[in-house]
Amino acid sequence: MSDCIFCKIAAGEIPSKKAYEDETVMAFYDLEPQAPVHVLVIPKAHMQSAASVTPENSAVVAHIFEVIARLAQELGLKEGFRVVTNSGVSAGQSVPHLHFHLLGGRDFTWPPG
Ligand code: 5GP
Ligand code: ZN
Repeated sequence: MSDCIFCKIAAGEIPSKKAYEDETVMAFYDLEPQAPVHVLVIPKAHMQSAASVTPENSAVVAHIFEVIARLAQELGLKEGFRVVTNSGVSAGQSVPHLHFHLLGGRDFTWPPG
């Protein structure tokens, strides 16, 4: 999608601080970190949100979780971490390109706000 900021980050048209990249997935540090470690993990191909996952495109989501496990280890999140995806306006999704927040380095409360 030509006007999508995360598509532009995936294409290298908008700079980002990269944490991981391969053919289908990219991870980069959030501009406004909500924890000592706050990385966003995205499919390079545009998908709007978790509501857009289908049997045809779900393989990349499984791959994203492999990347998350690897990043959590590499980034030293031994005590635990949180993975969040906001889907849609009431959940607070502000960028309409599927992304998973990997948050760590502090304690988190439950339930979330
Ligand atoms: P959402 O609110 O959709 O769940 O998460 C979007 C996230 O993207 C926010 O945490 C926001 O700080 C981050 N973000 C928005 N624009 C950019 C950007 O251009 N670069 C980076 N690195 N993060 C961004
Ligand atoms: Zn996009």
